[in-house]
Amino acid sequence: MATFDFIVVGSGSGGSAVTRRLVEAGAEVALVEAGPPGFGVEELDDPARWVSLAKGAYDWGHDYAPTDRVLGRVIPIPRGRVLGGSTATNAMMWYRGHPLDYDRWADTSPGWSFAECLPAFKRSEDWEGGASDLRGSGGPLRITRSPDPHPVAAAMLDGAAEMGLPILDDPNGPSNEGGALSNLNISGGRRHSAADGYLRPILGAANLTLIADSPVIRVILNGDRATGIVHRLGGREVVSEARLGVILAAGAIETPRLLVLSGIGPEDDLKRLGIAVALSRRGVGQNLQDHPLVRAVNCRARVPMGRPRDNGGGTILNWTSDPALPQADLHAFPVQGRSAVPAVLDRYGLDGDLFAIGPGLMRSHSRGYLRVLTAEPEGPLEIQPNFLADPRDLAALCRAVEFVQDMVEGPAFAHLFDGHAAPSARLSGGDLEGFVRLACSTFFHTCGTARMGADDDAVCTPRLAVRGLRGLWIADASVIPDIPSCNTHAPVTMIGERAATFVLEDA
Ligand SMILES: Cc1cc2nc3c(=O)[nH]c(=O)nc-3n(C[C@H](O)[C@H](O)[C@H](O)COP(=O)(O)OP(=O)(O)OC[C@H]3O[C@@H](n4cnc5c(N)ncnc54)[C@H](O)[C@@H]3O)c2cc1C
Repeated sequence: MATFDFIVVGSGSGGSAVTRRLVEAGAEVALVEAGPPGFGVEELDDPARWVSLAKGAYDWGHDYAPTDRVLGRVIPIPRGRVLGGSTATNAMMWYRGHPLDYDRWADTSPGWSFAECLPAFKRSEDWEGGASDLRGSGGPLRITRSPDPHPVAAAMLDGAAEMGLPILDDPNGPSNEGGALSNLNISGGRRHSAADGYLRPILGAANLTLIADSPVIRVILNGDRATGIVHRLGGREVVSEARLGVILAAGAIETPRLLVLSGIGPEDDLKRLGIAVALSRRGVGQNLQDHPLVRAVNCRARVPMGRPRDNGGGTILNWTSDPALPQADLHAFPVQGRSAVPAVLDRYGLDGDLFAIGPGLMRSHSRGYLRVLTAEPEGPLEIQPNFLADPRDLAALCRAVEFVQDMVEGPAFAHLFDGHAAPSARLSGGDLEGFVRLACSTFFHTCGTARMGADDDAVCTPRLAVRGLRGLWIADASVIPDIPSCNTHAPVTMIGERAATFVLEDA
């Protein structure tokens, strides 16, 4: 049995950041990761190959449960199972959203306004544009723009301007509404994951022990204090002890599972599973949020698309479904080829030269849940995002599809656009809603399942400590109270940075 000051469980966006900062502060840290190290694996490093990683060797292989609202379809929800977590398998977008996203967090979690989060965002960044009031440089994560955008990405910028949107130098700058070249975690043409940026430079540190290929089974509680973990290592169950505490950073699906397997969760669920109740917390697994994505609006292409560049996209577009909204709620990215869920492929065929645009809803109102179905460490889960449960979400996505079809019919796409492919024509009313239901997929931004807050139902405090326990913190996407209007790697990295500060001050 080994003993450390801190044990960090999981090495994704949150876990990598918290580990780096604890190690730099001189603490003795064990980082325990279920997946392998994954360095030097071509399919992970090549930025254009991320889509093919789902359900593969480096994915947990989860699915969202079906509902009638998405026509009974199962929607896969990939999560990286490798050092770097989902940042080793994701689409590499670095996007922080809108200041109001974080100001809303501060309504229920004092201390989390954008102004209070900004220093941690900047600390994490090595932005190619250099340091400014809003951006950081010299931090662990390299952030670049495409040196040579693909023609579809370039057309989307011109198309945005034709649709009356501003063209932004930087979507993480003073305004995010408009079209822009994406900020990407790509360095020298290769993926730059949280493992590359935060962990690789400290792997030789004497006070860091990396334990890979070692799934954690539960947290050990001694009275009201977390004192260690039980994890699998080389086919055996072993115990590792933490003098000062355990930080869960296993992500928004596995962290609530670990809480439940440790006896922390809704009392009824724990009893049903035959797990002794250590701490009744009915919020565990509730408040699950994700962004619905229409995958995708496909168009026939006049010319072959050629080899994919960058992350297969290259630009982003943010705009509002309703001018009365205080911030952009819709978001789209280009795809340098076909992009379709199986149901869309079955319906439309989609052979030949194609390009696509994926519109998504970044201020979704629907809320879901996660339920642990057995007490087995990697047993089945019911993961339900409730996509399109709120009629406002369906209406906004219909408007998004219409906007994208207007844009591709305009002059900016004239050299590329050769007709609609999926949907195969302009649609309206129930037909358009039917297409959105058929194509509704995920932006991969699962969060909120162990939310922070100052209220009694919150799972952790605004300083990320599990309420009612000592020595147990959460530093991943689970703690997000309200999904921000952006991809979630940047916000969770910021959470990891801040978690380290809280842990060092409060342990
Ligand atoms: C396909 C895909 C594309 C995406 N694209 C983007 C994008 O372009 N931009 C963006 O900002 N976001 C994107 N995201 C989302 C973003 O990557 C995640 O929201 C973010 O990385 C989550 O960080 P996390 O720390 O909460 O969890 P993760 O990064 O998932 O890390 C959790 C870690 O914990 C480990 N773990 C889990 N359970 C255990 C256990 N029991 N024992 C030990 N270790 C465990 C996992 O293996 C993993 O390494 C994408 C995600 C996916 C999957």
